[in-house]
Amino acid sequence: MLIRFWGTRGSLPVALTASKVLAKVAAALLAAEGRRFANLEEASDFARTLPFSVAQTWGGHSSCVELEVTRPTGTGHEYLLCDLGSGIRPFGSSVLARHGPGAANTFHIFMSHVHWDHIMGFPLFAPAYIRGNRIIVYGCHTELEAAFRRQHGAPSFPVSFDKLSADIEFVTLTPAVTTEVAGVRVTPKVQLHSGDSYGYRFEHGGKSFVYSTDSEHKLQDRKQSADFVEFFRNADLVCFDAMYSFAETISVKEDWGHSSNVVGVELCQQAHAKKLALFHHEPIHDDARIAAIEMESRRFEEITRAQHPKLEIVSAWDGLEIEL
Ligand SMILES: [Zn+2]
Ligand SMILES: [Zn+2]
Repeated sequence: MLIRFWGTRGSLPVALTASKVLAKVAAALLAAEGRRFANLEEASDFARTLPFSVAQTWGGHSSCVELEVTRPTGTGHEYLLCDLGSGIRPFGSSVLARHGPGAANTFHIFMSHVHWDHIMGFPLFAPAYIRGNRIIVYGCHTELEAAFRRQHGAPSFPVSFDKLSADIEFVTLTPAVTTEVAGVRVTPKVQLHSGDSYGYRFEHGGKSFVYSTDSEHKLQDRKQSADFVEFFRNADLVCFDAMYSFAETISVKEDWGHSSNVVGVELCQQAHAKKLALFHHEPIHDDARIAAIEMESRRFEEITRAQHPKLEIVSAWDGLEIEL
């Protein structure tokens, strides 16, 4: 199973500003210490040796993650995705580039919930406008279809939902009940979030991936923690809502429906998960801040490891691929 992140930002997409790009270029020039490069390739090789926050960026698209269980070839491919944040737009473009506009593909999309940042990319998802494509939206909310239709309604968007050419259907899943979709076993779990959200545990070929975003954890609630440890149990990768700092989640941002890197590490350690991807980054966090959170999380994992197996940690970025 290959996990590909198309959008990792929480609440609202963000773009790098001119001043942030300038700061990166200036830092890279300083690090080059007058080196000369014969061509772009040599310069790129050097850039790859620089810290990620200097030479690259975590990116700014809102939630969208792809699970690839079989390599796409020809027409009629079955794609699996979680959420339809703005990251679905570049995903849609990549599908068109790969297959051309004539290919009839199926897109299985698992929705955590219908807050705006998780559905906002759908109106600009090009395959939805192509006859022959099939889009199946799965979720546990009964108002799933209504939320999609409302987003396409006038005067907010010029193309009504009924004008979309793809064949679109909605499937309601039941929490804690496992179903099989395109050969992948999937189990939803209810999460603490305004209006509820749902996490998904995917299992295929002996590997497991948990997508758990927009989820607040109250560690004093032992039952809730134990349930999530079970949900994350031995997962090869857990994608976790780490929007706020731990201090924020127990003070000013308590009950805002999100969690922290510290809680992610603790739950994954108890569950003996192998890898943790910090996800749903706070829009006000720049690359330097996200890099610092990733470093702090790794340090926290190290000093609390004790009897737990090592947990690998990465702050997910738009374009990151993780092979399980
Ligand atoms: Zn969100
Ligand atoms: Zn939300």
